[in-house]
Amino acid sequence: MYKTYQHESLIEADRTLNQLLDVIVEGTWDWRADTGHVARNPGWYRMLGYATGGLKQDVFTWENIIHPDDYARVVDYIESFISGVREDYCIEYRCRKADDTYLWIRDHAHIISRHPDGSASRIIGAHEDIHQYKTIQVELIEQNRHLRDGSITLENSLQQKARELEEKNRELEAKIRQIEYISNTDQLTEIANRKRFVEDIQHEIRRALRYKHPLTLAIFDLDLFKNINDSHGHGAGDQALKSTAELVRSNIRSVDCFARWGGEEFTLIFPNMTLENAVLACEKLRKLIQQHRIEPDLSCTASFGVSLFTHGDCFEDLLRRADDALYRAKAKGRNLVESQAEVFVS
Ligand code: GH3
Ligand code: MG
Ligand code: MG
Repeated sequence: MYKTYQHESLIEADRTLNQLLDVIVEGTWDWRADTGHVARNPGWYRMLGYATGGLKQDVFTWENIIHPDDYARVVDYIESFISGVREDYCIEYRCRKADDTYLWIRDHAHIISRHPDGSASRIIGAHEDIHQYKTIQVELIEQNRHLRDGSITLENSLQQKARELEEKNRELEAKIRQIEYISNTDQLTEIANRKRFVEDIQHEIRRALRYKHPLTLAIFDLDLFKNINDSHGHGAGDQALKSTAELVRSNIRSVDCFARWGGEEFTLIFPNMTLENAVLACEKLRKLIQQHRIEPDLSCTASFGVSLFTHGDCFEDLLRRADDALYRAKAKGRNLVESQAEVFVS
């Protein structure tokens, strides 16, 4: 072992040791199990603000100044060290100062001698002031916890906001669908309205041109409908419009477009259907309408006009030719299907 001093006498050695113990900043302690005496250097008292030698020199003095929250942990620790279960001794805890505040210290110790059973009979240790380091560490841990909690809160509220936005989006989409439905649907019969029909026919004209398939259009008008209103009432007239629309809707192909053109007039588009077949389809519908009972004593008939799309037509041309045919059906006595004169020959 490196020797700083080589004293001639014990008195001289004691003097040097006490001088050294007086100048060092750490607080040293020296505990003897047989007497229960604890010798503490001036630094031990200075660190905690007590008058040097002002406290009783026993182990209870030390136990009494340990922070209550650290006490159990420290006592467990030193017990395991004294009994030999633990080999090293280095522990951080808080000690009460003379002004009743607490100071974080790091306590290191060595066993200097042992009883025959291996337990410590003398221990020398030193307190190191780690208060600044410890308070910064505790603050950092606390700040970290706040940050983590904060970011969790932020994440939660962002997720909540995203959920709310999704919900709003769904509501908005449902509203848009509802508005689209309303703007495209006839309220009484719940089939397509005129606006929707005009869009559909333009779409079908483009498809007919693209694929070069035939396209036919029909208009039908309920015959002498005014009489139904007059004899059965407007409510029965409404019911007649509704049930005739439903009858037609359920007897056409899914690709056919069916709309209420206005009043008691309806329009049909038959994509990829020749004029001849469109006339046959209208014939079928005409018969169904004639046979249909709106109420036990109420039925109606309809007159049809059918036209075929030819290259260069706009939808008004197609509509006009069907309307002309319908006019002829009416003129011929109603409850008839007439097609555009220039193409179809019956
Ligand atoms: P035509 O065979 O020549 O078509 O005779 P019509 O009586 O059917 O023709 P007109 O144009 O003289 O009368 C159509 C009637 O349809 C008049 C109108 O009150 C009725 N009408 C139109 N829309 C509705 C409706 O939404 N509900 C009811 N109940 N009647 C309607
Ligand atoms: Mg009519
Ligand atoms: Mg009419």
